[in-house]
Amino acid sequence: MLRLARPKTDLRTLITLLAVASIVITLANSLYATWRVQREVLINNTLEFNRVYATKLASTTELFFQLAQSQLAFSANILSDGMDDDAVLQSEVERLRTQTNSFNSVVVVDAKGWVKAVSPESLMLKGVRLTSNSASQALAERKPLIGKPGISAANNLIVSVSWPIWSKTGSYLGYIGGSIYLKKTSILNELLGEQFYRDGSSLYVVDSDNRVLYHQNGKLVGQQIAPLIGDEVRQKNSNGYQQIPKASGESMLAGYATVPTAGWMIVAMKPTQTTLEPLNSLLLKVLQHSVPFALLTLMCAWILARLIALPLWQLARKASQMDAPGVSKDIRGIRSWYYEAAQIKRAMLAGIGLLQDKIGRLKSEVQTDPMTELLNRRGLNAVLEYFLATRQPFAVLALDIDHFKQVNDSWGHDVGDSVIKSVAQELRKSSRQTDVVCRNGGEEFLMILPGADREMAMAIAERVRKKIEQQELPVVSHISISIGVAFWSADDMPMDRVFKLADDALYQAKNAGRNRVVSCLPDDDESLQPHRHLG
Ligand code: GH3
Ligand code: MG
Ligand code: MG
Repeated sequence: MLRLARPKTDLRTLITLLAVASIVITLANSLYATWRVQREVLINNTLEFNRVYATKLASTTELFFQLAQSQLAFSANILSDGMDDDAVLQSEVERLRTQTNSFNSVVVVDAKGWVKAVSPESLMLKGVRLTSNSASQALAERKPLIGKPGISAANNLIVSVSWPIWSKTGSYLGYIGGSIYLKKTSILNELLGEQFYRDGSSLYVVDSDNRVLYHQNGKLVGQQIAPLIGDEVRQKNSNGYQQIPKASGESMLAGYATVPTAGWMIVAMKPTQTTLEPLNSLLLKVLQHSVPFALLTLMCAWILARLIALPLWQLARKASQMDAPGVSKDIRGIRSWYYEAAQIKRAMLAGIGLLQDKIGRLKSEVQTDPMTELLNRRGLNAVLEYFLATRQPFAVLALDIDHFKQVNDSWGHDVGDSVIKSVAQELRKSSRQTDVVCRNGGEEFLMILPGADREMAMAIAERVRKKIEQQELPVVSHISISIGVAFWSADDMPMDRVFKLADDALYQAKNAGRNRVVSCLPDDDESLQPHRHLG
């Protein structure tokens, strides 16, 4: 027989698993989304912050240079009256250097490049002819200039700001120049040196040749470095931001701005990694806030899974006991609170009803012989179908009234009918509740004895035969019957054959003199040779 393997999982586990999976996926998804959004916010904020910071420094530096130039212009104007008085020149350079701290040193140079006055005097440049690039440029161009930063004779990194001196008559007298030592204390230095360097941030000031003019790491100052911001970008935008990959592999979030008069660029940057550090603790916080809620949801889902699965589980358990007594009462007691469970419950109850009504339904009118109220042949067939389906073995008794024609002939058809009825009544009386009695037609009957073995079937047949023989009937007084017995089990033979065997046994009983029981043996050829049982 085919046996279906029972699945191991049940509905409740499946629903719970589904709930767990969806909660985990939702949680992971929201964590990922938070991570993405926060990462973007942190990066963008840092880039923007650096841009604003660089821009602010750049505009302050720009302002500083404009101020420095206007100071020089003022002095140049004073000196336009003539540069012959050394005392005037000296007091002017002293004033310029000490009054505002803009410059570390100030010089007045004549049109040929000779230093006329210098402050501080300790530089010992007075009377020296200057040959530096910025000096030559100032003399050649005779314009206000901010020179390219360079290393001075005294090994200072210097940026020179100069202003030409013109006489009242319009002849070129020379220039006045202020120098700022980038590695030493100056207003510019203080301006750039503001706190900014916690958390790996750094600030670069570079000139147009990418020489570092300022950096918190003093060793870098004066060095030429690889461009932090591409020249193209630098020329196009006065400020902006971009992510720059560092040579060491650490990516940086940089904001930049240019100082137009000096051609410098200020770059403020922070490592991407440092910027994103708060992200982990942020995610942990999100997790901390969502986990209790997720657990609560899970608990609700678990309880709900139980509630949903319970009716189906109970119904499924009862499905294997559909033929047990009282099962419909149990099923009726199952609370099927939703559509599917209610439908299955209804179908199961209807199925049990059908099963239990089966025998009862067989006794309905179409399947009953009206004269004897026994099953007719059609009714018997329905019962046999059921036995076949349930593989219920049974014994068959084929019964026939002896010499019935004579009864009819002697006392008439009505008396014959009443004899048939009384035999039918006797047969019904002699049968157990589970036995099936059928009028096979005319004065022939069939008795089906489910589960009866040979001994029991023969005993019952014999008892019936005796009862009929002993029965006192009106008019006819006594009659007798002959009985053929055969057996069926699903494994032995097709069902048709058992009736043929019973008929053959009955034929043998008639031949042997009637009023007797004859049984046949199934399974072998001898079965066709009935065994007599004499009455
Ligand atoms: P045997 O011992 O060999 O069975 O002899 P028998 O006379 O009984 O022979 P058979 O079985 O052939 O006869 C059956 C007779 O029963 C024939 C028929 O007239 C009669 N009969 C059939 N049905 C009815 C019925 O419903 N009522 C009456 N009164 N007679 C019937
Ligand atoms: Mg007959
Ligand atoms: Mg007969």
